[in-house]
Amino acid sequence: MLKYDYLIVGAGLYGAVFARRMTDAGKRCLIIDRRNHIAGNIYTKEIEGIQVHMYGPHIFHTDDEEVWRYVQRFAKFNHFRYEPVANYKGGLYNLPFNMNTFHQLWGVNTPGEAEKILAEQRREVSGEPGNLEEQAIKLIGHDIYEKLIKGYTQKQWGRPCDELPSFIIRRLPVRLRFDNNYFNHPYQGIPIGGYTKMVKNMLEGIEVRLSVDYLANKPELDALAEKVVYTGPIDAYFQYKYGPLEYRSLRFETETLDCDNFQGVAGMNFTDSETPYTRIVEHKWFEFGKGNAGKTVITREYPKEWQPGDEPYYPVNDEKNSVLYAKYKSLADAEINVVFGGRLGEYKYYDMDKVIRAALDAVNDTL
Ligand code: UDP
Repeated sequence: MLKYDYLIVGAGLYGAVFARRMTDAGKRCLIIDRRNHIAGNIYTKEIEGIQVHMYGPHIFHTDDEEVWRYVQRFAKFNHFRYEPVANYKGGLYNLPFNMNTFHQLWGVNTPGEAEKILAEQRREVSGEPGNLEEQAIKLIGHDIYEKLIKGYTQKQWGRPCDELPSFIIRRLPVRLRFDNNYFNHPYQGIPIGGYTKMVKNMLEGIEVRLSVDYLANKPELDALAEKVVYTGPIDAYFQYKYGPLEYRSLRFETETLDCDNFQGVAGMNFTDSETPYTRIVEHKWFEFGKGNAGKTVITREYPKEWQPGDEPYYPVNDEKNSVLYAKYKSLADAEINVVFGGRLGEYKYYDMDKVIRAALDAVNDTL
């Protein structure tokens, strides 16, 4: 008999939830990660008493009650609400697009006045939007598209908006109310003490080996377990046989500053096309200003095209890549002893709650 039932490749959220659930069901799990820490891209590290989101800001939000109850087992969540501000050439606008934004842009005071302008501007696009630009104009009109979407999106994805799929922008709500909450979901918060602590709690009693490269040592590692759960990039698993899938990567520039309050908000998006970064995150505001007096930690986020050696962050789910992914997916389906999961394993722009849901479902399907 092999030593483990499951070898889980990747100690991020998908791997940790899968491992926890399987362990609770009496299975023997080994979890490995190429990096020298757990928690994947939700990894947080304490600097100056502040939980710093080392791979970009993560705000937990969900409408899935079971998932919400599940995470409470591993962390206490605070009552943080994401209310980012957009900075367009020095002018500040509330996000997501709501009555505050419309007032700031057009000086309108009532939903009726805002609706009138929106209706006029939306008319520019008739029929089903064929790309992100059309989708954005149809959703929110020309002015907001030009000031708050176009530059940000082109920087973020490295492509013109008329070459991007429209679903990316459908994540953003539009409201005729004065409501700056970025998310529509009923449950939202940040785990107190950081995501790393939450994942550590999930992995309690489970064997974890860090700095282990699965693909470089595949035969020996496969020999340890009956089944494998792979949460790395699906194209890398198959040695890029059909060519590489495209990803967007990010470069983070994190600085500790000798000041208490740099920008007064957790997230500020720079929506023009000239500023090279997309946003600045001031981490202490995820925990209401907790941290050492006189210190703050900020991160500038620079998008970049993924190149071998970079961390892949966002799958580029356009048509070309979706076709390519389908080819890898059929190879993956034929690997009966391997489950492919998570953002990279399924090449999907997943939020955290959906990752947890997918991992819980995968366990249910397998048991
Ligand atoms: N977006 C935008 N302007 C903004 C914020 C977002 O145009 O100020 C667009 C952009 O195309 C982005 C998408 O909306 O890729 C989704 O944004 P979200 O904040 O959900 O992205 P994430 O936090 O996952 O990077």
